[in-house]
Amino acid sequence: MIEYENLGKLNAKYFMQYENSFTEFLKSGWYVLGKGVQSFETNFANYTNSNHCIGVASGLDALTISFLALDLPKGSEVIVAANSYIASVLSIKQAGLIPVLVEPCSDTYNIDPSEIEKSITSNTKAILCVHMYGKLCDMSSIMSIAKANNLKVIEDCAQAHGAKQGSDVAGSFGHINAFSFYPTKNLGALGDAGAIVTSDDKLADKVKALRNYGSHIKYQNIYIGMNSRLDECQARFLDIKLKDIYNITEHKRTLAQIYFRLLNSSKFILPIQSPDFFDVFHIFNIRHNKRDELKSYLEENGVKTEIHYPIPPHKQECFKETYDHLNFPITEEIHRTTLSLPISTIHSSDDIIHICELLNNFEA
Ligand SMILES: *Cc1c(COP(=O)(O)O)cnc(C)c1O
Repeated sequence: MIEYENLGKLNAKYFMQYENSFTEFLKSGWYVLGKGVQSFETNFANYTNSNHCIGVASGLDALTISFLALDLPKGSEVIVAANSYIASVLSIKQAGLIPVLVEPCSDTYNIDPSEIEKSITSNTKAILCVHMYGKLCDMSSIMSIAKANNLKVIEDCAQAHGAKQGSDVAGSFGHINAFSFYPTKNLGALGDAGAIVTSDDKLADKVKALRNYGSHIKYQNIYIGMNSRLDECQARFLDIKLKDIYNITEHKRTLAQIYFRLLNSSKFILPIQSPDFFDVFHIFNIRHNKRDELKSYLEENGVKTEIHYPIPPHKQECFKETYDHLNFPITEEIHRTTLSLPISTIHSSDDIIHICELLNNFEA
């Protein structure tokens, strides 16, 4: 059986370091916003080539607090790809703003810059760029559109730790940018965790207060904030795993290259690769017209897969009244045909070779 993911196995190589770090944490007697959070924030700011990193409780909170810090007029429109993960769209709503859904490119699965331009109104104040599967959105085009139209840019980097366009890394393009360290992400904690990165001193300062009841100084509250601090223990685990992120990324990129080399590209639609983009393959998806049959076939042959995602946000029950009348043919086609193949550090090259053989033998 080849599992899609196994978090126990994935973390096994760090157990000793985690145990030592946990003992130190336990004995320190300092359990909230301590040395662990401070150290991780410094190292992660460095990793994302940003002046500031502020740890928060989750990826969704990182996005929501980013929007709150920008303080856009209530009811402002934020442009976001229709095939984004639900959390990306939720964050816009949570901040009292209006998500305006647009189609992605059919080959990169990321927001289409020409669709952004078509959707800008006098009410548009920001663009949320969700880097899907581990490939960056076309940030050079998007940043020039944003500049020309005086829009803020927020990156959702939850699937894109370390991904690049040219020499620039995820989290270094937008005004304020969000990461998730949910356990399955490329950089994953042992529970919920997230972070905001920015090079804007004022925004960083505000975010630091917002995650902590809106307060810089104890019992003095200047904003209507929340409690969304990065857990001290998770920060210590993340700081340990961050030292290994280069190897994690290289492992996944090596497995991706096996898929690219061996999979029959006349049978499956493979992800697009281009020389200007350094992809980190949080997810390796293929597309096939008979996706559900393909998924069952692999399962019968001992290979577990996932679907990211089965239902797009505009078809979700919670958004029924707002978006159900809308049609997004590219988005809906992606959701109907996409299948995520195993691509974790728990998998060997032989696992992937075996999966490719099975796939190429699939008779549709
Ligand atoms: C995982 C994810 C999130 C949400 O992160 P949480 O830490 O689970 O709240 C947001 N956006 C994208 C694209 C994600 O993949």
